Amino acid sequence: MSTTRKPDWLKMRPPSGREFAGIRETLRERNLHTVCEEANCPNLGECWSGGAGTGESSGGTATFMLMGDRCSRACNFCDVQTGGMEALDPDEPANVADAVAEIGLDYVVLTSVDRDDLPDQGAGHFAETIREIKDRHPGILVEVLIPDFQGEARLVRKIIDAEPDVIAHNIETVERLQFPVRDRRAGYEQSLSVLEQVERESDIYTKTSIMLGHGEYDHEVYQTMADLRERSVDIVTLGQYLRPSSDHLEVKRYDHPDKYETWRRVAEDELGFLYCASGPMVRSSYKAGELFVDAVLR
Ligand code: SF4
Ligand code: SF4
Repeated sequence: MSTTRKPDWLKMRPPSGREFAGIRETLRERNLHTVCEEANCPNLGECWSGGAGTGESSGGTATFMLMGDRCSRACNFCDVQTGGMEALDPDEPANVADAVAEIGLDYVVLTSVDRDDLPDQGAGHFAETIREIKDRHPGILVEVLIPDFQGEARLVRKIIDAEPDVIAHNIETVERLQFPVRDRRAGYEQSLSVLEQVERESDIYTKTSIMLGHGEYDHEVYQTMADLRERSVDIVTLGQYLRPSSDHLEVKRYDHPDKYETWRRVAEDELGFLYCASGPMVRSSYKAGELFVDAVLR
């Protein structure tokens, strides 16, 4: 489908239920932000009640956003505000760790805005949050979705040294469309090199995400996945780009769910990814805990 009218399969279902209300209350009390809520993610109900099943708790997956809600970059698909950067909250790592315990998550995803304004671009704060969580809950699985750190290997190394279970970094789109989709400081080779470094220097699983709907051709999507596999990236997710506002890039194309299922088979059966979450509503962290445990740990 190439129309820009939103098709039926992208209709959202609002989250509800006791579990949802309880998690939201805990977040409010601690002044914490999740991408799930900030981005009004359509998968919220599913993810928060998912249940990765790795321990006693019944929680699912939630994605915490670290280091504020303002980004030093301006990607043309993203709704996060640019500029006006604030100082880091030194209590945030401990607060996130407390909230994870209170909510009872099995699997937590940490992500952040880009902080090109800080001397270490926030790598130390990210690493400290991973350690706080792991110290308090040794059984928990931690996935981090990290910035490119401008390709600085010593900063990526800080994240590796904190020993999360999965390090994700999003390539976002095919090589030809990196700009205008992403900020000019991002780049295809730079993102591949971040993922490659993690593979080369550790046993930590790697993951990335591709948005469809920016006008990419099928052969370019295939080539992107092949380039990722060449760097031994383990997990890929594919989802539909949705335009946050009329100031953002237009959606060039909506693909039917069947097409996403075809990409999933190509990624897993032909290219050898450990798993591929693929569907119009899929986001990088979509049911991350459940899928990771099913595909990798069981
Ligand atoms: Fe959004 Fe990330 Fe780009 Fe910042 S770097 S504008 S948070 S996609
Ligand atoms: Fe949160 Fe990610 Fe799930 Fe959306 S897909 S609800 S951002 S964990």
